[in-house]
Amino acid sequence: MSENATFPGDKLASIEEYEAGYNTFDDGDMVRAATVGEKDIDKTSRVASIKHPKVLSIPKVGDIIIGTVAAVMSSMIAVSIDYINGEPTTSKVECVCGTRNLRIRNVALVNDIVKLKILNHLNGTIHAGISEPELGILLTKCRKCGGKVVSMRDAIKCTECAWIDERKLSTNFGKSDFVKLRE
Ligand SMILES: [Zn+2]
Repeated sequence: MSENATFPGDKLASIEEYEAGYNTFDDGDMVRAATVGEKDIDKTSRVASIKHPKVLSIPKVGDIIIGTVAAVMSSMIAVSIDYINGEPTTSKVECVCGTRNLRIRNVALVNDIVKLKILNHLNGTIHAGISEPELGILLTKCRKCGGKVVSMRDAIKCTECAWIDERKLSTNFGKSDFVKLRE
């Protein structure tokens, strides 16, 4: 790799001197790389970008994303982004979503499909929210047996083993048009 090679989170320039261009984000202080690629610092237009062989899509604040839950921690989930505003993306950018204030057991499970809204980019991490009604789980399974679940108010019930559990469900939970979207 050349000396211009970048990794996600690398500092490119101060936001006082440069604007965040393609495949970058600003963390409130620095313009940082959002992906691997090659630095492209345009001194004329004062824009810092990353050249990448594939077009990468970094969601912007306010964007609605649909992704796959990659990890579940005690106070947050990590989500690998599959769609941004309904457009598929193959860049596998991840965002995190705080879940502590929801007071729900098992907000999400790994491999659940979830709809989130991008809140901000902070310290090299994309943060998303889940609290609005249409945000939340679109597709999940029974934690006990992996069976199909149906929603009952805020809870879900397994159609195979009758296990009742909680999730932060989207108002779109169980709608079939999303299944088509994934095919
Ligand atoms: Zn079950």
